[in-house]
Amino acid sequence: APMPETRPKWFKVPAPQRNVKGSKFDEISDNLKNLTLATVCEEAQCPNVGECWSGGTATIMLLGDTCTRGCMFCSVKTSQAPPPPDAFEPFKTAEAVTSWGVDYIVMTSVDRDDLEDGGAGHFATTVKVMKEKKPDLLIECLVSDFRGDLKSVEKLAKSGLDVYAHNVETVERLQNFVRDPRAGYRQSLDTLEHAKNVAGVYTKTSIMLGLGETDEEVLQCMKDLRAVDVDVLTLGQYLRPTERHLSVVEYVHPDKFERFRAIGEELGFKYVASGPMVRSSYKAGEYFIENMIK
Ligand code: SF4
Ligand code: SF4
Repeated sequence: APMPETRPKWFKVPAPQRNVKGSKFDEISDNLKNLTLATVCEEAQCPNVGECWSGGTATIMLLGDTCTRGCMFCSVKTSQAPPPPDAFEPFKTAEAVTSWGVDYIVMTSVDRDDLEDGGAGHFATTVKVMKEKKPDLLIECLVSDFRGDLKSVEKLAKSGLDVYAHNVETVERLQNFVRDPRAGYRQSLDTLEHAKNVAGVYTKTSIMLGLGETDEEVLQCMKDLRAVDVDVLTLGQYLRPTERHLSVVEYVHPDKFERFRAIGEELGFKYVASGPMVRSSYKAGEYFIENMIK
């Protein structure tokens, strides 16, 4: 596959800023060491960690580190029989997170096709306990498609969360090339639509750019998402985690990200975060508070 050998000059991955003055970084990071919780921010060595954590947003992973699927862009460990979930995790997690100074927590996980409900109940319990302890904490769950099982979607959507997030990852044509064959464009749209219909929650999704999609395909994808009333969209540059993963086809210029952002807002998304380094949860709390709670 074609691979741009060098990154364009304007493309820079900033080093994670771990010592932002007055940040909650140390507090969160010390607390995590005493738990078995993993943050995506740290695991993925996300460059936005200083900005996000000091702004009051963090992302944690539930249900372990081993995924039952294998997408071509993702470096997570895979197994058809991951260790069973820790039944105490919802309580331990809620205890820890509500003791931090964060205002907005993103909870995500690997896909657990081995579990009856795909892990929806585990998430729902965590949300409920967190909201009991700290009702004003804003909670986003970034979850799998639950194999299209709408009962699982409903269980989670009605748990009390604020934002139901599920990523379509790429445009329709590239779905099978990029995502595990058990995932699918229509299936993903259906779960987002169902969450909105049964619970009236905010819905959110992400697309990676630079995988060979055309501008028209991105536009169509945005329209498809608006057709099921998705509220929030994030667009970021795909980066290849290792040599064994999909090549980057294009480093999309920041001007184009900006154009997509403007188009997205015209199409009616409540907000669109779009830029090379934007990730699904990038400053999610700040954006949410700025755009949704007014
Ligand atoms: Fe963490 Fe997401 Fe922010 Fe990266 S973008 S630091 S993973 S919350
Ligand atoms: Fe990675 Fe999610 Fe795909 Fe699992 S389902 S391989 S965690 S992107």
